[in-house]
Amino acid sequence: MGTNLPKRKTIGGKIAALIAFSVFSAMILLAIFLGMLQLNTSVQGKKTQLESAAYIYASALAESIETQDRSSAQKVLRSITRVPNILYAAAIDTNGQTIASMGNVTFLTSDQVEGQPSIFKLLTKGNMPVAVNIVRGDEKVGKLVILGDIRDIRTQLFWTLLTTAVASIVAALLAFPISGPLRKRIVSPIVLLTNAMQKTRETRSFEKLSIAEVEGETRVLVDTFNAMINDIRERDTSLRQLAYFDPLTGLPNRANFQRMLEDSYENKTSSAAYFIFDIDNFHAINDAMGHGIGDALLMDVAARLKSELPENGSIARIGGDEFAAIVPGFITKALAQDVLAKMISTLFEPVKILGHEIHASVSTGIALVSEQAVNPSEIQKQLDLALHDAKNSGLSHFSFFRSEMVEALNEDAELIKGLRAALAQNHITAFFQPVVNLETGYVEGFEALARWIDPVKGHIPPSKFIPAAEKAGLISALGEQVLRIACQQGKSWHDAGKAGWTVAVNISTAQILQSGFVEHVRDILADTNLPAHLLCLELTESVFVGKSMNIVQKMLENFRVLGIMTALDDFGTGYSSLSYLEHLPFDKLKIDRAFVKDARDGSKNTELLKGIISLAHGLGMVVVAEGAETEIELNVLRRFKADSVQGYVISKPLPAHQATLAADLHDKNNPAKMQQTA
Ligand code: C2E
Ligand code: MG
Ligand code: MG
Repeated sequence: MGTNLPKRKTIGGKIAALIAFSVFSAMILLAIFLGMLQLNTSVQGKKTQLESAAYIYASALAESIETQDRSSAQKVLRSITRVPNILYAAAIDTNGQTIASMGNVTFLTSDQVEGQPSIFKLLTKGNMPVAVNIVRGDEKVGKLVILGDIRDIRTQLFWTLLTTAVASIVAALLAFPISGPLRKRIVSPIVLLTNAMQKTRETRSFEKLSIAEVEGETRVLVDTFNAMINDIRERDTSLRQLAYFDPLTGLPNRANFQRMLEDSYENKTSSAAYFIFDIDNFHAINDAMGHGIGDALLMDVAARLKSELPENGSIARIGGDEFAAIVPGFITKALAQDVLAKMISTLFEPVKILGHEIHASVSTGIALVSEQAVNPSEIQKQLDLALHDAKNSGLSHFSFFRSEMVEALNEDAELIKGLRAALAQNHITAFFQPVVNLETGYVEGFEALARWIDPVKGHIPPSKFIPAAEKAGLISALGEQVLRIACQQGKSWHDAGKAGWTVAVNISTAQILQSGFVEHVRDILADTNLPAHLLCLELTESVFVGKSMNIVQKMLENFRVLGIMTALDDFGTGYSSLSYLEHLPFDKLKIDRAFVKDARDGSKNTELLKGIISLAHGLGMVVVAEGAETEIELNVLRRFKADSVQGYVISKPLPAHQATLAADLHDKNNPAKMQQTA
């Protein structure tokens, strides 16, 4: 690995270029300086040489100039040709008249005669003028001007400059190899640092640099880099820990599990068993015993499951009370079951936390993948479906994913779609089932039960669509429709003189949790004009689970203030803590059919039924028994002094007008009523 920069952009390249440029510049400057020095010396030498010659000839000319003797002046001048490099000579008298001249240059410029031309001018012209006075006695009689050839100086200068320029270039070029070791010393630690940084960034390996032979600022740089790497490594470790591990159990978290799934998909791991575990009733344990104990339980369960995981397997905590495991390799159903059995067996011993003994169990979903890698979201879906199926089968169950589960899911989606449409098109209605007072034998009211009659599919049972409505968040809308229909019907009976006939309506948890629900019920009563005391709201025990007693108590009291009755429905099927009853002001208790079914003297169930009835009476509640199908059951209920009964023995739930007829018929055939009317 290394920097892939062009050479001229590397630090080494730049330093080399800088050295070469410096050497070149220094050489050139030196050359210019020496050249100028040489030029100056040569020019001065030439000038002195010309001047000395000029003085000699000036004195030889003095007499002939004074006498204006041109021919003797010319003679003197001719001999000047013996002096080398003289191009031109002229003797001029004080009037400016040229008395004699020599050479083929026929004119003289004034600055050649008078002035001191610059070196530049001298060099470009290639000649040098020298003028000396011709003196006779003490009197100036004229001027001798000579023009010397200095082209040799120019040539010399040219060669000097050329050779030094070549030398400078050669020196600059030589600077590259010569400066190599120096550059290496400066640059190599920086290059090493750069490469180490790149590697750290790419591989996140956070390795320290060990360069022994550096010192000074480079040493500080390397040491600082190493200290920084150390800091980053520590921070990276704790960030990774936070991002990919669950702080409570120390297991990989959901994001990490997702990565494992993606990795095995990318590596085309074709065979593996995937498990998802969900602690049964964890929320109830958490709510009842507190989060501290809940956390301790999670840690314990995590450690136990992990202890029996095959060595090549991984386990993660992927949600509140959900764990997931991957066991790679070719795994058959039987092998997967063996793995699961070992893991689950660790939970047989109760968990002991702060003096509590908790028997924890898990529900498990399993997905087996063989032959072809399956993408992570598909595996997740399969696990969820398998877990869902296991949970539906009861506590501590496991299910392997089956393709029918997808169909069931699709059916669910289809059902919800249909339900949504049914609600919009008012295909949801209510049937009414009479409730009879066991003492008088008269019908005292009805329970309104939601019915979905699809124009094509016919009746869809509540056991199917009520849970679907709850899952899809449609239960409040459905409940409201039923409540309205029931109140309208109750009002019709009231108006028809059916004095005292009440209507009971089932209310789900989601409705209760809706803000302003009490006001909402009051508004429906106001809309339909049903007297509040003729309405009874049935709640199941699931309403209280995980909620504060005070809130439920308050709500029940609010209904009581409005004059609405409340009933605890399906008593005996849920969490059934009798202590609820003591604190909650329900008017009625509806005993689930499970206790009424097959009620006959002496059976255990019947004893329980008797106990529940007397307990409810003790708490001042009216007891309604649900689901009586036979006269025998009815007689047992009468004997145990249940207040009312509802069941097929009297009537099935029916459309309102049929329910009215059935109730009337019942009342007419009722001997108690006949006695009264007789
Ligand atoms: P539930 O409130 O306990 O209603 C009594 C159920 O027992 C009704 O079932 C009724 O038809 C059935 N039943 C009555 N007598 C007998 C009998 O003698 N033998 C047998 N085997 N069954 C009897 P249904 O109508 O299928 O309703 C089932 C559950 O659906 C209801 O139980 C209630 O929890 C829920 N549900 C029905 N309508 C609504 C509604 O409008 N809102 C909400 N939230 N839940 C509703
Ligand atoms: Mg009910
Ligand atoms: Mg019930």
